[in-house]
Amino acid sequence: MSGYNPFDNVVETIDKAAKILGYQPQQYEMLKHAERELHVSVPVRMDDGSVKVFAGYRVQHSTLRGPAKGGIRYHPEVNHDEVKALSAWMTFKCAVVGIPYGGGKGGVTVDPKTLSRREMINLTRRYTTMIAPIIGEQIDIPAPDVGTSAEVMGWLMDTYSMLKGHTVLGVVTGKPPELGGAIGRREATGRGVMISALNAVAALGKNIEGMTVAVQGMGNVASVAAILLAEKGAKIVAISDSKSGLYNKNGLDLKAVMAHREGKNPLKTFTGDAQHITNEELLALDVDILAPCAIENQIRKDNADKVRAKIIVEGANGPTTVEADEILEKKGVVIAPDILASAGGVTVSYFEWVQNLQQLRWSEEEVNSRLKVIMDNAFKSVWDIAKEKKVSLRTGAYLIAIKRVVEASEMRGGVWP
Ligand code: NAD
Repeated sequence: MSGYNPFDNVVETIDKAAKILGYQPQQYEMLKHAERELHVSVPVRMDDGSVKVFAGYRVQHSTLRGPAKGGIRYHPEVNHDEVKALSAWMTFKCAVVGIPYGGGKGGVTVDPKTLSRREMINLTRRYTTMIAPIIGEQIDIPAPDVGTSAEVMGWLMDTYSMLKGHTVLGVVTGKPPELGGAIGRREATGRGVMISALNAVAALGKNIEGMTVAVQGMGNVASVAAILLAEKGAKIVAISDSKSGLYNKNGLDLKAVMAHREGKNPLKTFTGDAQHITNEELLALDVDILAPCAIENQIRKDNADKVRAKIIVEGANGPTTVEADEILEKKGVVIAPDILASAGGVTVSYFEWVQNLQQLRWSEEEVNSRLKVIMDNAFKSVWDIAKEKKVSLRTGAYLIAIKRVVEASEMRGGVWP
């Protein structure tokens, strides 16, 4: 895994799609670079009185189609290249689903599990203050990602608002509903994964009822995707956290697993009806659908051949490397790619922002039905272009996304001055 640079993945994918689109390098060269990158050193007062300094980032890959948009990650492996890749994926994700945003991403290199609540608040307030000069409701709008939550977004909104002297709800999405958060935002990415899985299954002429599903992850995206897919009749046979996973070929008792996790207990201490497996074993299970919903770089050249699922629905950002993608394509695996399948969250973030700007409140039914329309239409466009050009769904999604971003650049009059 060492030496892996996710931004190289991004550049390779852009080149591949741009070649199919017949673009000249000058038309898309700027997409291989981020527009603006900020690196901050965040000092935090710890509970014992000491001061620790954490590396923080905010990268805006593109604002050609609208303000930058993307989450904030708190994870020990956050680094500049990762944030840059994640920000580019946001540009293409927003373009695929046709919402008026560019792409951005932020992160802090920290293990949030080692911080107290007070230290988390201190970190969030100081990091927000340090990135405040480049964020704003018309500039760059953060949201939750790995290791952050609605509560953290509430602190971010408050800090930014204190600096401005008035409450600015639209500076961040994924807030608690009581603070202008969209109802349904917490579940939105997992809901989008479920909708994408259903669309992939239907496009292949199959039925979700009784299909076996392995979900990698146990966080916001993974747990909601698992619950909603089970509600649609799929059998969730495996799930995992960062350390280990659970497997039951007859279907896991999700209620019991979720209750175990509620108490922040690791899955390895689960004593219910399931076999303990590793994350690597989960990825290689003989299932109908594999939904990687944890972090990037999980399906790689060294393990792609072991994948036995026929359908992969990527809830995480960048779970499959370019090399692994080629191996899976040769094996005939149908992949609903991250920039499509994980777009439910940013889509409902867009709904939240629209509501904040207009001081409106939509019902959960309205949010969910609008989300379904956008996800269904995006899936259909990607499926159709992939069939037409005889390419994978991933390449199809990039064809749509890159075309939209390049056209935006050209309609704005091209590179200025
Ligand atoms: P989360 O923090 O709630 O959950 C992350 C999960 O990943 C946890 O279950 C954790 O145990 C697992 N994990 C962490 N390190 C791991 C490792 N080394 N190996 C295996 N598992 C590991 O985060 P989330 O919001 O559910 O995000 C999950 C993925 O979905 C990320 O790739 C994120 O970028 C992407 N995503 C999230 C959203 C959103 O709205 N939250 C939107 C789009 C995409």
